[in-house]
Amino acid sequence: MEIKSAEFVMSNSDVTKCPKDLLPEYAFIGRSNVGKSSLINMITNRKSLAKTSGRPGKTQLINHFLINKTWHLVDLPGYGYARVSKSSKKTFQKFITDYFNQREQMVSAFVLVDIRHKPQPIDLEFMAWMGENDIPFSIIFTKADKLKPQAILNHVADYSAVMMETWEDMPNYFITSSSKEMGKDELLNYIHEVNEN
Ligand code: GDP
Repeated sequence: MEIKSAEFVMSNSDVTKCPKDLLPEYAFIGRSNVGKSSLINMITNRKSLAKTSGRPGKTQLINHFLINKTWHLVDLPGYGYARVSKSSKKTFQKFITDYFNQREQMVSAFVLVDIRHKPQPIDLEFMAWMGENDIPFSIIFTKADKLKPQAILNHVADYSAVMMETWEDMPNYFITSSSKEMGKDELLNYIHEVNEN
């Protein structure tokens, strides 16, 4: 699938005010700085559709983009920003759980993780929550250009081992680099296939 049109629809801090139509939607989420905005811009062929926030963790908005007039790409706020207070962490959790629990249009989520890092508790906890709540998701490994091919394989194998230990399963995953346009076709073809079924 090629993205021919990508339009900003709305930003929202209230899930009940998100678009009312029933277009399928795909949500992108991950720790602040994981490369989410860069990935969204890469797959949509746009330089700054998703804005990189100067103050990560500050803006808690659900951003809807209409893609090819047929589905929504949803940019969720980055989590795990060290400088936010406990109470804003709680608010954030509620915001995200409300989104996933209430948006029936949500077909699948993509949890972004930096391929260079070992599995982080915050990502594992988030994925565990997704699993417990039967929310379908794939992992997107980002910044693969920072590693050599063999190191990419080793890091994915290490990640899989941790996932298998905990959940006896490794979710569907994609290896991407926004700077090298890696993984774009695989990801878009996957979304296309899910949309067709
Ligand atoms: P976000 O906070 O998750 O939206 O992350 P950004 O897209 O703003 O990226 C955070 C930082 O990582 C920026 O300095 C980007 O230039 C860098 N970055 C993002 N994607 C890649 C990538 O694929 N490769 C490399 N080398 N750097 C990346």
